[in-house]
Amino acid sequence: MVDIIGGGILGLTLAHELLKQGQPVRLWERAPTLGGLMGRTTFDELGGMSCDRYYHAILSSDRTLMGLMDELGLRQRLRMVATRMGFYHAGRCHPMTTPLEFLRFPPLRMIDRLRLAYTILACRRINDWHALEQIPVAEWLRGLSGERATRHIWEPLLRAKFDGDFSQVPATYIWSRLVRTTDTRTRGGSQELMCYLPGGYQELIDALATAVRARGGVITTGATVAQVRVAEERVVGLSVDGNEIVTDQVVITAQTPIARRLLPPEAAAVSERWSQLEGFLGIVCMLLVLRRSLTPYYTLNITDERIPFTGVIETTNLIDPACVGGYHLVYLPKYVAPGSPFATMPDEQLRPTFLSYLRQMFPDLRDEEIAAVRIGRERYVEPLHPVGMTDRIPSVRSAVRGLYLANTSQIYPQLTNGESVCSFAHQVAATVVTGNIGHTDHPAPALSSA
Ligand SMILES: Cc1cc2nc3c(=O)[nH]c(=O)nc-3n(C[C@H](O)[C@H](O)[C@H](O)COP(=O)(O)OP(=O)(O)OC[C@H]3O[C@@H](n4cnc5c(N)ncnc54)[C@H](O)[C@@H]3O)c2cc1C
Repeated sequence: MVDIIGGGILGLTLAHELLKQGQPVRLWERAPTLGGLMGRTTFDELGGMSCDRYYHAILSSDRTLMGLMDELGLRQRLRMVATRMGFYHAGRCHPMTTPLEFLRFPPLRMIDRLRLAYTILACRRINDWHALEQIPVAEWLRGLSGERATRHIWEPLLRAKFDGDFSQVPATYIWSRLVRTTDTRTRGGSQELMCYLPGGYQELIDALATAVRARGGVITTGATVAQVRVAEERVVGLSVDGNEIVTDQVVITAQTPIARRLLPPEAAAVSERWSQLEGFLGIVCMLLVLRRSLTPYYTLNITDERIPFTGVIETTNLIDPACVGGYHLVYLPKYVAPGSPFATMPDEQLRPTFLSYLRQMFPDLRDEEIAAVRIGRERYVEPLHPVGMTDRIPSVRSAVRGLYLANTSQIYPQLTNGESVCSFAHQVAATVVTGNIGHTDHPAPALSSA
């Protein structure tokens, strides 16, 4: 029996894989519903309209995810749409979807634009990322894109994504990002293809849960694991809401700082090992449900540093608004480091603050066009992998027999997204079933770059 802690996409995909390989599983989720960060939110004030709590795109190049959709019979429900991207720079929105738009982007001279294009091409030619992880990202980009493009494009984007401090972010970050997103382009690179399920990611979560149960897996929601029980260097049980459950294999899919809190004193050495790399950025994300569309873009990147949020994500430029009651969904994410004032700002202060900045960008947005507002906060979202720290990534196996850690902090150099999480879940399943990854202190395996 394998006990999995966490019913997000990682825990569910792992449960599904283990069952396919003949391993019985039980999955424990503390929330009343499954999905974790990919869950839904419901607006009672809008007649029960529900949508993804956060924006989640599926890219046409997400091979593992597409394979999973095939297995679960969801592939034919996927809708593919060519989406647009823009940049908000110096008080104006600029389209940046097609190569021609890219070449017209005002703050850059032709030579800068050509160097930016060269950066993308150069990224695609790099297969071995190991050298990149020793180089700070801004230094690397300055070499490829030049001073001006780095100052006007890359640095503002990095500052927004890493809440101001990207000095320790390795070059692998941009490399990974560019490789993934340029893979989604149509031939000629003129459009970006994204996919969605009409019922949101929840459709995938529900289908996974159904498949897990159909194979005999047991899923319990509303069940908080308080501690993993360890005796004589091996897992012997779990404490779940005051009940003692006997088990000899546990996979914790919660983020590392949460996972460490589940360890008993007998696993102090494991806790110490996991603490070597456990940094995460959090997120504060305001979701606006609008009665009209705000922009033509799925993503509007912001290089104007007066605006506090990272971007304006209008998911209904991908999703048909008919899937969400005819409304238009605009997400304003702000990545937050632990000390950020936005992390603790009360909703009644954050809401007018974000809205006033949004109105600076879109002065014609009227109050009556805002049907509802929801603010989401998450403490652990973006795992941090500082320059040269690959060796600190905890291995999936631990020094305690039967105890495994599997979370997004171990996914590297790929970025955290549904595709990389599902690929990782497959690798974790193989580790649990066959023990084919070396024992302690070896980093989790890198996923292939394709
Ligand atoms: C704003 C935002 C935008 C994003 N955009 C995208 C995107 O466009 N595309 C994409 O693919 N990905 C995107 N992601 C990332 C994606 O959401 C995550 O990579 C993914 O959901 C992580 O899944 P997980 O299962 O690892 O973790 P989680 O979803 O966090 O699941 C962990 C689960 O463990 C449970 N848990 C924790 N402690 C306990 C305990 N003691 N007992 C029982 N259960 C416990 C939690 O309740 C949770 O449900 C985005 C994330 C955010 C926040």
